[in-house]
Amino acid sequence: MAEDKLPSRSENFSEWYNQLVLKAELADYAPVRGCMVVRPYGWALWENIQAALDRRFKATGHVNAAFPLFIPMEFLEKEKAHVEGFSPELAVVTIGGGQKLEEPLVVRPTSETIIGYMYSKWIKSYRDLPVLINQWGNVVRWEMRTRLFLRTLEFYWQEGHTAHSTRQEAEEETLKILDVYTDFAINDAAVPVIPGKKTDIEKFAGAVYSTTIEAMMGDTRALQSGTSHFLGQNFAKAFNIQFLDWNNELQNVWTTSWGLSTRFIGAIIMTHGDDNGLVLPPNLAPTQIVVVPIYKSDDERTKVMEATEAVKKQLSADSQGFRVHIDTREEVTPGFKFNDWELRGVPLRIEIGPKDVEKGTVTFARRDMPGKAGKNFVSAENLAPQAREMLNTIQKAMFDKALAFRQANTYEPDNYEEFSRVVQNGWAYVWWCGDPVCEARIKEDTKATARCIPMEQPGGEGKCIVCGGKSDQKVYFAKAY
Ligand SMILES: [Zn+2]
Repeated sequence: MAEDKLPSRSENFSEWYNQLVLKAELADYAPVRGCMVVRPYGWALWENIQAALDRRFKATGHVNAAFPLFIPMEFLEKEKAHVEGFSPELAVVTIGGGQKLEEPLVVRPTSETIIGYMYSKWIKSYRDLPVLINQWGNVVRWEMRTRLFLRTLEFYWQEGHTAHSTRQEAEEETLKILDVYTDFAINDAAVPVIPGKKTDIEKFAGAVYSTTIEAMMGDTRALQSGTSHFLGQNFAKAFNIQFLDWNNELQNVWTTSWGLSTRFIGAIIMTHGDDNGLVLPPNLAPTQIVVVPIYKSDDERTKVMEATEAVKKQLSADSQGFRVHIDTREEVTPGFKFNDWELRGVPLRIEIGPKDVEKGTVTFARRDMPGKAGKNFVSAENLAPQAREMLNTIQKAMFDKALAFRQANTYEPDNYEEFSRVVQNGWAYVWWCGDPVCEARIKEDTKATARCIPMEQPGGEGKCIVCGGKSDQKVYFAKAY
């Protein structure tokens, strides 16, 4: 229960985040340093994220499966860039059942290798393609600096792995999933994201290229929120994933992989949260509506509870359904309840007091708009459509607010000096020549990194913000989580 106040978001964003995750009971620290326990409220949010994504994956022809947690060490060594990228983060099992293992096992950091191995057995002919498999699971990456949801030793995610007969089809798949992630982020999480390509320095270990959705958090830092990789034939060659084509010739398949993790919960917290706590988008909130009855005397209680029951009945009869909670706790005051549900980010609070009962109304209080500005008095009749409309309004307002914030904190500096200044507290959208040397200099001078080369480009040409060389692409640079 929330008793002591959160640190102010504007004064200490980092501490605000840490304490909010704990106080809202989303997650807790585990006994092993760097691991997290996802508490029921956090898991309920994750389940709604899963459902929203899973629906989209299935609508685009994907199916789910489950692959093992343990991967033979030699599998990782088969793809050079992959093992180099992941080696420092591997957890390795050397003893099993009290015996030293003949071959060490890696706890999966990601599953390209073991899935590639299985695909080499399953794929024989062009008729077996495409293979469009996703798995929901957990992975382990031995990170040194960890933060709940944003970077933990073990995290939960989905990883899609697809195999195709042509390069074009695999590249289309890579972009199709980027669209799925973008659509989910914008329409369900109300998080405005920029879909784009990663630079070579920032790409996934083993990919030909990586694509990403990047979001601006409430402190203006960037969060990579989901990635989709075109792997070319790198893993096909490493694992002999070959098929007989239409002309009966042996070919390597083309593969992709893509993932979105519990990190996205961090994106939702840091995009929408305020000094009073979480602000959850209605489409994903574990509880969309909380009903708080308000009364003093026994007489008032009888009337108010009767009206509350009627409200509950109306909302539960709605065909689309609402995720509703009626807060009937007797041991705490309504004021305490308001703060408690604000901390947990419930999008809409319905207050019912004796005066509401007299007038045949209820009070809608919007979480995204605290105080009087967010209060509306509505008729207690025909309540479900009014609640639906209000949730839609909140969902849209949250997106608009986050987008306006990103726009207000995105700059187009003219020179390197101005660039170095603006990336300290915002994003810079600038021309870049494509040379990794210029990219590395930016990182060294400012700690900002290339977030993405957005898919939507202005066209034309400009001068690289670092070297002044010719450039035909604009890139977002920012400090990132
Ligand atoms: Zn340059």
